[in-house]
Amino acid sequence: MDKSGHYQWGDGVYTLLSWFRQDRVKQAHVLVAGAGALGNEVVKGLALFGVGRITVVDFDRIELSNLTRSVLFRERDALEHRYKAEVVAERAMEINPQISVTPIVGNLFSEVGFGLYRRADVVIGCLDSRLARYQLNQLCMRAGKTWIDGSIENLTGVVRVYTPGINCYECGLSRQEFNNIMLRTGCADVAHRQASAGRVATTPVSASIIGAMQVQEAMKVIHRDDKQPAPFKTLEGKMLRYEGMTCDVNTYRFASWKRNCPSHERWAEVRQCGNLTCSMTVGQALETLRGELNTTAVEINMRNNQFVDVIASDRPDREFRVMVPDSQLQHLIDTDRELRQLSYKTVFHKHFYENIDQDFPYQELTLRQVGVPPLDVLQVSTDRGLYYVELSGDAPLYNY
Ligand SMILES: [Zn+2]
Repeated sequence: MDKSGHYQWGDGVYTLLSWFRQDRVKQAHVLVAGAGALGNEVVKGLALFGVGRITVVDFDRIELSNLTRSVLFRERDALEHRYKAEVVAERAMEINPQISVTPIVGNLFSEVGFGLYRRADVVIGCLDSRLARYQLNQLCMRAGKTWIDGSIENLTGVVRVYTPGINCYECGLSRQEFNNIMLRTGCADVAHRQASAGRVATTPVSASIIGAMQVQEAMKVIHRDDKQPAPFKTLEGKMLRYEGMTCDVNTYRFASWKRNCPSHERWAEVRQCGNLTCSMTVGQALETLRGELNTTAVEINMRNNQFVDVIASDRPDREFRVMVPDSQLQHLIDTDRELRQLSYKTVFHKHFYENIDQDFPYQELTLRQVGVPPLDVLQVSTDRGLYYVELSGDAPLYNY
């Protein structure tokens, strides 16, 4: 009970664990990327532990086939095609009404503000594609955060813990794996990128075993203390492999950290700017940045997204005004009847903006419309060098 006589989650239970620090757990923020089978198990575990703040990210909707291994989903959610992230958030707060779970429906790279990664104590990856892991790794390295990757297939599961300076997902990839990922990013033409992840067979049991281990490792990261030696071993720099068919559990050293890996770039010195929000127009934002950085010329580098104004088809030779961030282009083509039909017989070429400055022709669009999510960090070029500026005016949207 607290002073006012209310029951505090975990009172009389977690307080019996010598290492458990209720205050730390309550104040912790865990970002969970993916709300599928693993994401369900992970968020369930975090809610039961009483982790005070959880952000859950997924772009997908619930299907009937998800129900066999997703403890938080119900049949009516599938029939209503609800978003996974929203349902996971809602059900987790039913389990534990004392926590706050924020859903973000979208891509973890282009639609989650970098400020949320910066504010996370630990990130948990519940993803089903190499491309998504590659992107999440890059974001966590930029933010200097440990991330805990889980994967499951049939009765086998793997947990890997990546910590900047110790190991990196990209450094652990073979050349072939790396090339396969690159094939699906950065193409000048509109590629069919979302035809993602071949489906793998998974079971509810492997999801709960691996999801539970990810939560346990996350709790250890939350309890990490520079002053005292930890009372437990962690999977830092290691991977754990569970073979359900043979009941074998093995841990291996897994520390790949190469020099010159582009993913190791750390965005350490981020300036918080309370006057900036993603609902400002480009023109207002550029003006605010010039004042904030005390300079006459600034350029916003669109690192995770480009802004596409026009796409052109070969046959017939036509142009279409689309005005969307690159991350939304495929969806736009898929949902527009004319564009979708054309996409079967022609290649589209994009006209896009990678940098936004005073010559950008659409100054009246908001930052959000050109592809900057709330609480993101802008990479800004000036004549005095690069700056990283956070849209801190968006922080109240996430109760910060
Ligand atoms: Zn690396």
